[in-house]
Amino acid sequence: RIYKRQLECRADIFRLDAPLIAIYESLIPTAEEKAKQKQLLTSLEKLVNREWPNTKLYIYGSCANSFGVSKSDIDICFALEGADNNKPEILLRLAEILESENLTNVQALVRARVPIVKLKDPDTEISCDICINNVLAVVNTKLLRDYARIDVRLRQLAFIVKHWAKSRGVNETYHGTLSSYAYVLMCIHFLQQRRPAILPCLQGMKTTYSVTMENVHCAFFDRVDELRNFGRRNNESISQLVWSFFNYWAYGHDYANSVISVRTGGILSKRAKDWTRRVGNDRHLICIEDPFETSHDLGRVVDKYSIKVLREEFERAAEVLQHDPNPCVKLFEPY
Ligand code: ATP
Ligand code: MG
Repeated sequence: RIYKRQLECRADIFRLDAPLIAIYESLIPTAEEKAKQKQLLTSLEKLVNREWPNTKLYIYGSCANSFGVSKSDIDICFALEGADNNKPEILLRLAEILESENLTNVQALVRARVPIVKLKDPDTEISCDICINNVLAVVNTKLLRDYARIDVRLRQLAFIVKHWAKSRGVNETYHGTLSSYAYVLMCIHFLQQRRPAILPCLQGMKTTYSVTMENVHCAFFDRVDELRNFGRRNNESISQLVWSFFNYWAYGHDYANSVISVRTGGILSKRAKDWTRRVGNDRHLICIEDPFETSHDLGRVVDKYSIKVLREEFERAAEVLQHDPNPCVKLFEPY
């Protein structure tokens, strides 16, 4: 594929700041919604404790990593020692308990890659997925949340990108496009790469937080309150960042050779990771290294058809932002 020249940013890009911020603000969940999520978690914990005393439920995913938009589902992790060999049984029992209470749409998906129980609370209309001992997800949730506390532009950019991806139908891993988690990592990496940088590389700094989970050692700097001024020398606004993000993924990224890595704050080569060949279903057509499970490419869901869809959508977004008279409508137009 021949590289197209990267675009030069249109001069009136700043006119998009206000509408983009307005979209971001309209997506933020209300305090009332957050309180309802907490209440639901507490009542589920009570139910679970009747059968399994002294166990805890943890929220992970977008309701805990601060990248959750209004009306998101809650992702819950049930921490239960010694459960790893009989997750299906436990999930079926859990489903039984939940069903006998006032919960609807209870469904145990025991054969999924990550086995879960799904449910809906009829009072609040909130849906939840409960998994068992997916503790790495709880740790990567903390990493994302800590990054979000450093510079508000991360949360703004990620909300806009997630909203775009959902509107354009490219946030569906079962159709070969990327997860929300992957998009947030792309945003973090992008802000680590700005010059001057807007985000640091927390895993490259002094360790102030560390745990070992599922044989993976997770360590990073988490005293992020000390980093509140980190990005102050870069005054790019949200419109410039959104524009540059899509321009990078449309025309700047080297899909043939590069792996983006939040863990190192830079770009790695596919060769160094041995991600140059297709192994099984992993094709590595767009490479996003998981910050902790470093052998894990979040782009592995992407196949030779969906990579085309994805790249055409990045190009469409870049072109809309560059040329459209009313980009904020066109960008999020349903596909
Ligand atoms: P949404 O608002 O779309 O629900 P989300 O942040 O909850 O976004 P998901 O992609 O649903 O994102 O993933 C939920 C959480 O599960 C992520 O925040 C992450 O902690 C974990 N996760 C998801 N996919 C992976 C993966 N491939 N590897 C490791 N952890 C993952
Ligand atoms: Mg979720």
